[in-house]
Amino acid sequence: MTASHRVWNFSAGPAALPLSVLERVRAELTDWRGSGMSVMEMSHRGNDFMAIQAKAMGDLRRLLAVPDHYRIVFLQGGGIGEAAIVPLNLTAGRRHADYVNTGHWSTRAIDEARRFCEVGIAASAEDRGFTYVPAQATWRVARDAAYVHVCTNETLGGVEYAAWPDPAALPADVPIVADMSSHMLSRAVDVARFGVIYAGAQKNIGPAGLTLVIVRDDLLDRARDDCPSVFSYAKQAAADSMLNTPPTFAIYVAGLVFEWLEAQGGIAGIERANIAKASLLYATIDCGFYRNDVAPANRSRMNVPFFLPDSRLDDDFLAGAKARGLVQLKGHRVAGGMRASIYNAMPLAGVQALVDYLNQFAREHG
Ligand code: PMP
Repeated sequence: MTASHRVWNFSAGPAALPLSVLERVRAELTDWRGSGMSVMEMSHRGNDFMAIQAKAMGDLRRLLAVPDHYRIVFLQGGGIGEAAIVPLNLTAGRRHADYVNTGHWSTRAIDEARRFCEVGIAASAEDRGFTYVPAQATWRVARDAAYVHVCTNETLGGVEYAAWPDPAALPADVPIVADMSSHMLSRAVDVARFGVIYAGAQKNIGPAGLTLVIVRDDLLDRARDDCPSVFSYAKQAAADSMLNTPPTFAIYVAGLVFEWLEAQGGIAGIERANIAKASLLYATIDCGFYRNDVAPANRSRMNVPFFLPDSRLDDDFLAGAKARGLVQLKGHRVAGGMRASIYNAMPLAGVQALVDYLNQFAREHG
């Protein structure tokens, strides 16, 4: 396999990984650094895997500048799992939680949380078809809320918080919980603003099966008694995320992605690249033929939905794209249209190839 055989994969997730990471995985697949076995075959409690996990956690902590009073835990269950795991971990003694609804994934989190606690809607962007992030000044957050939940990048709608929410403008002791599944590690984040950050790995981090959670120490004693042990932030933090068998291979690959990120200049370097990629793509979409409905300030750098002027052109568009090796551009079944996900691993050359095709298609059909 060489780079020339690979397509430009715009999937929303599981998504493209850096080619150099995949090549390293292949080189180490059957004999990890002289161990005589694959990482897949190792005991999670053996020295080799423990070192792999400790390095991955340490690298993640450095990349994101995670403060000392936060724990990193590696869980399973993905984003939808976290939608339940969050209330189980944070609602001991407080029955109510508030949610900012910015679209599909916020709504999924709200629906799941309703099974575990009383849910309030702090703000909703439904009035304008979930095309913007409601200003924090308009949020109504109860003083006794266990937390306020936000989805800082809506993968389906392509809506991203331009500025991180500010805990100082919320009632005291109401932590912010953020689903960052689809833009984790794509831009600098002030972790100290959040009580909990979580992300499924399969978009910007590594293979599906691993969920990253970053949780502030003082929130570790708020879990309900019925929270399953493997989903307990406190118990998993105390057990170095090895209370049960962790998704070992996914953690290993995520660790390689963290090393790759360091080599891209860390988060600052990848954020610069992401801005360049998103600017190029949105500039092309704004040329007149295509349409993106998201408020410009809240356009996602990671997930770029767009529509053709007539949906009867969609099949032609997708077929032409596929012929050029541009794949997974069909929009989410709920949204229709197209969506290009341009996560960290998508190089500028891939976005340029898409832009060239967008321009050609517009010339031919405009
Ligand atoms: N939150 C967001 C922002 C997502 O994009 C997704 C998956 N597309 C989820 C949650 C659900 O993730 P999972 O399928 O891992 O449960």
